[in-house]
Amino acid sequence: MPSFKAKAVVLKTHNLGEADKILRLYSQEKGLIDAVAKGARKLKSKFGGRLELFNFIDCELSKGKSLDILTQAELVRNFKNISSDFNKFLFCQLISEIILKTHPSESESSQKTASLLFKLIYVSFSEMNSAPSGDLSLLEKTAAFFIAKYLKITGYNPLIDSCCRCGAKIGVENNPAFSINSENSLAFSITLGGILCRSCSAGLDNHPEVKKSITKEEFKLISLIFTIDLKNYRNLNVQAQDIDNVLKIIGNYARFHTECNIDITLYLDKLQA
Ligand SMILES: [Zn+2]
Repeated sequence: MPSFKAKAVVLKTHNLGEADKILRLYSQEKGLIDAVAKGARKLKSKFGGRLELFNFIDCELSKGKSLDILTQAELVRNFKNISSDFNKFLFCQLISEIILKTHPSESESSQKTASLLFKLIYVSFSEMNSAPSGDLSLLEKTAAFFIAKYLKITGYNPLIDSCCRCGAKIGVENNPAFSINSENSLAFSITLGGILCRSCSAGLDNHPEVKKSITKEEFKLISLIFTIDLKNYRNLNVQAQDIDNVLKIIGNYARFHTECNIDITLYLDKLQA
């Protein structure tokens, strides 16, 4: 059987038979890999504790019929603070589910996309791991960063600098219809795919998927999150309510426009204050 090497992260595991483990890995080289680790649950397994959830590993696999077979794994990084913290664990589970549900097979993921998403998962888990315990806003901020960059990498990012209905440029200060300084001037439309200008917003139903009014602060945060790099994003001061609203908006947007079908509010409802 041909074998191959991969740098991968363990996104999901389940038990198989008496002693084996099935792993859903996301790799830098091939995107999603489903593999079996034979004997991984035995006390003296050669894999030791290296195949725990959210671990990054260097591995060697041999090509199988439906599942590849993991033959070797070396630990690259484990995030100890994630497994011991319910909220961090929940957000990393959300990240994993988004990846797993939108990348059904390795063949559909080009190598460049796989490599970018792999890096994004790494930095997102790393940020979650180092966040002070109990800082829910920071965890939400990191989750929002992940979803925004994920949408950008996969080509699903919303229209932000111009109105998604009429195409007018947003933020042109001398035109009150499009100014971000007018109170309640802007809205975000999940279904139409981005920001709505004041005129378009006025004529639309107030159903949150068609039109959700956003504040100036939320607009600024939404437009920054898709363009800013991690270092600058980390230094960005955000209000708890703003990041909570923005995370819900882009989470719902991702649910509507990608195949992930994940209801972000179900995750947010489980958070422990
Ligand atoms: Zn418009």
